[in-house]
Amino acid sequence: MTVELICVGTELLLGNTVNTNAAFISEQCAMLGLSMYYQSVVGDNAGRLERLLCVAKERSDVVILSGGLGPTQDDLTKETAAEVMGKKLVEDPRAKQEIQACLEKLGRTITENNWKQAQVPEGSKVLYNSNGTAPGIIMEEKGTCMILLPGPPNELIPMFEEQVYPYLRALQPETICSKMVKLCGIGESAAETKILDLLDSQKNPTVAPYAKTGEVHLRVTAKAEDEKTALSLIVPVEEELNRRFGDCVYTDDPKVTLEEAVAMLLKEHGLTVTTAESCTGGLLAGRLVNVSGISEHFKEGYITYSNEAKEKLLGVSHETLETYGAVSPQTAAEMAQGGAKAAGADLCVSVTGIAGPEGGTKEKPVGLVYVGCYCKGKVFTEKKQFSGSRSKIREYSVANALTFLRKVILDEAAGK
Ligand code: AMP
Ligand code: MG
Repeated sequence: MTVELICVGTELLLGNTVNTNAAFISEQCAMLGLSMYYQSVVGDNAGRLERLLCVAKERSDVVILSGGLGPTQDDLTKETAAEVMGKKLVEDPRAKQEIQACLEKLGRTITENNWKQAQVPEGSKVLYNSNGTAPGIIMEEKGTCMILLPGPPNELIPMFEEQVYPYLRALQPETICSKMVKLCGIGESAAETKILDLLDSQKNPTVAPYAKTGEVHLRVTAKAEDEKTALSLIVPVEEELNRRFGDCVYTDDPKVTLEEAVAMLLKEHGLTVTTAESCTGGLLAGRLVNVSGISEHFKEGYITYSNEAKEKLLGVSHETLETYGAVSPQTAAEMAQGGAKAAGADLCVSVTGIAGPEGGTKEKPVGLVYVGCYCKGKVFTEKKQFSGSRSKIREYSVANALTFLRKVILDEAAGK
C-alpha cells in the first residue's frame, strides 16, 4: 500500500516553522511498512492544494494531510479535501460539544468561526482531539483514503499514535511489529560494527540503526500474518542484540528515554542523586527533571560555572583549580564529591568542559569534557572529546553524564 504526505501551511514554505510533522509521520509510516513515495508542502492556498490533492489521489492509496484545520479563513484543508473527495460538510454534534468544552476550560471566548471546526465531511470517521479543538478526519472513497490531521505537533502526535496508527495497521494485510533497542555508551560506528553480520543477512526481521545524540537506537521490525508471529520473529534478534551490547542496552521500549531509564535505576536501588554542572549550566538537571516523580531521587542541583562558584558551593579546593584548572579530572572529582556532600545525596554527577567556540587551547581543546561521579565514598571520572557547535557539545556532555551515572549505579549494584 502506498501513502503520500502533504503538509499544509505557508509558515512551512517560508521556513518559519520546521516541518517536524513530516519527520514524525514518515517514521511512523515506515514502522507500519507503508511505502511513502511522495511528500509535499503547500501554502495556505485552496487552488494549489486542490491541484495537489487531485494528483495525490490518483497516485497513492492513502493521502495524509497535516495542518490547515484551524478556525480561521486561511485554514482550508478540510473544505478543499472534502470537495476533491466529493463530500458535503455537515456538523458533528460531538465535535461541537468538545470544542465548546475545550474553549471553556481554557477560559477563551467562543467566536462564530470556532464552529467551523465542528464541520466534518459527510460519512467520514472523526478523530476527536483531546489536546485541542480541531478534530482530525478520515475519509474513504473509491479506493482512496484521506487522513486530515491538525498541525500543532502536540495535537497531531497523540492523535496519530492513538487513532491513525491502529487504523493504518488494520488496512495492512500483514502485521508489522517493531521494538526499539536503545543503547548508550557506544558510538554509532562501534555499534554498527558489532552487528554487521545481522545487518548484512537481514530480511525478516530487519535491524535499522539510528544515531541520536549520545545514543544509538536499533529498530527491529518484523512482518508476519499476525502480531504474535511477528513478535516471535523479533524475540531471538532482540536477545542477540542484548547479548552483544550487554549493559549498553538501556531499554527496548520506544517511549522510554535515557533519563527515565536512569530514574528507574535510582528508584530500584533507592538512591538520591544531585548534579554539579559547569559547561552544561543546568541542562543535566533539566534532563532529570523531564521525568515525572523524580523529586523522590533528585532534590537539588548546582550550577557552578565560575571557579568561585565551584569553591563556594561545592568546596572544590583553590589549589586544585590553580594547579589543574577547572577542566580537569581532579576538578570533576572534587565537584562530584562536594556536590554529594552539600546535597546529602548518595550520588553526584559532575560535568566540566570547554563548550567553545572560544576558550580552547592545544592541551585543552574545545569539546574536552570531564564527567565525574561520586557514589558511596568512591569517585570516578571519565574524559571525553566531543566536536561540533557549543550547543551540540553541551548536549553530548549531558547524554554522557547520564550514561556515566547509569554505569556507576549498575557497577555498584553488581559489586564491581
Ligand atoms: P494549523 O493546523 O495549520 O492551524 O497549524 C497550527 C500550528 O501548528 C502552526 O502555526 C505551526 O506552529 C504548527 N504546525 C503546522 N504544521 C506543522 C508541521 N508540518 N510541522 C510542525 N509544526 C507544524
Ligand atoms: Mg496553518
